[in-house]
Amino acid sequence: ESNNSSMISTNISMMDLMFDNRRYRVTPETPDIKQLATDLIHNYNLEEPFFVCDIGQIIKKHEAWNLYMPRVRPFYAVKCNDSPLVLETLAGLGTGFDCASKVEMRKVLEIGVSPTDIIYANPAKPRSHIVAAAEQGVQTVTFDSHVELLKMKRYLPGAKLVVRIRCEAERAQCPLGMKFGVNIEDATELLNAAKSLEMDVIGVSFHVGSGCMDPPVFYRAIAEARILFDYAARELGYDFSLLDIGGGFPGNTGTSIVEIAGVVNNALEDFFPQGCGVEVIAEPGRYYVAAAFTLVTQIHSIREIKSDDITRYMYYINDGIYGSFNCIMYDHAIVRPEVIGIRQSDEVNLFECSIWGPTCDGLDQVCSSELLPKMEVGEWLVFPDMGAYTLVAGGTFNGFPLPKVHTVASAITWNSLKDVMKTLAFVVDDVPVFPNSGVGYNRDAVGWGCVEEAVIGRVVS
Ligand code: PLP
Repeated sequence: ESNNSSMISTNISMMDLMFDNRRYRVTPETPDIKQLATDLIHNYNLEEPFFVCDIGQIIKKHEAWNLYMPRVRPFYAVKCNDSPLVLETLAGLGTGFDCASKVEMRKVLEIGVSPTDIIYANPAKPRSHIVAAAEQGVQTVTFDSHVELLKMKRYLPGAKLVVRIRCEAERAQCPLGMKFGVNIEDATELLNAAKSLEMDVIGVSFHVGSGCMDPPVFYRAIAEARILFDYAARELGYDFSLLDIGGGFPGNTGTSIVEIAGVVNNALEDFFPQGCGVEVIAEPGRYYVAAAFTLVTQIHSIREIKSDDITRYMYYINDGIYGSFNCIMYDHAIVRPEVIGIRQSDEVNLFECSIWGPTCDGLDQVCSSELLPKMEVGEWLVFPDMGAYTLVAGGTFNGFPLPKVHTVASAITWNSLKDVMKTLAFVVDDVPVFPNSGVGYNRDAVGWGCVEEAVIGRVVS
């Protein structure tokens, strides 16, 4: 991962070399992900699983965010997917970043993001990570306990503290309340302690749970935050200026962002009306990246099971729960397989099947019961909406590699990115080149395209 910037530099031949290696995809039109996957498979004779990342999806999400929640500035949760291209795209679009560790902070700072655009939002922080925040100028941090307060006093005395309260959704894909957040009744005492330590508390945060399926919880949480704002001003003389409404926004399934935005906007109007002097931020993760990544896997083995005149199939694919599908275990995700290039007659001839990962572990099951056409060895299955909490937490158990990411952008997407990216990208002959992800422009191709064969965070040169 060492100095990627210098690997690319402003040297045009370096860029050409990368393109000559054909690590790119160009689509003049909106990308058809399945078609693209088919092309990649055939052109490169692929056998390993891979992701296709459509940057346009991330931009669309950002535009929708600004449309539906214009008062709330997103601080993207890096933990959700730390692919350099995702971080660079979002930085270019002007989001801030929620980091959970010193490594995440460094990743974001390295692409040129200002420390003031980072919130260190892990309430329980190892000492060296706090020291790193101090050294790098990251000051805004969340806390939810007395112990953390004392650590801040010692290692980051200039911290701008944000107290994280507990307010949970009744239903969420990944509840968080049992681990983090101080109950509102105990929060006042924590603020008293902060005051006596002469620490600067600037606001309140919460996280209702990831994959929130209870939109009204945002109203309750914002109302509770208001209670603390008032207490801190009245009793302690604090003048809070930041409300952080956390994550929990939907990826591509479940609750609608429009519904949550409606609740959030109403609550803000009721408790933090326009002009009240409070900056409102959020920490969306899956919202931005889930839909942008499609996983493409190959069937390498099949077992046919016949019982009572019914034929079922077991398909073995080359990615499983120890790899990208760790989201089934950790993120409680339900994944959906799709067939590439379905044959007309197959639509009626469906068979019950289960889908299994490549390792020798019996736990490594991806889908327990699906209906698919009869598949052959060597055919591919596609899993949409796989960008959130997948690559970041996968391993290589049994020696099976994590999928590489092939990135794509339409000409329109790329052109719109060009302008916003100016501050972050190198410019070679008016062509932006992204320092970490190795994305650039191929003059000989049909339009703007992206190049990436990043093995998570690393330019392959
Ligand atoms: N902020 C914090 C502190 C988190 O712990 C998480 C996820 O666990 C997020 C933000 C992102 O949440 P989501 O992906 O639901 O938006």
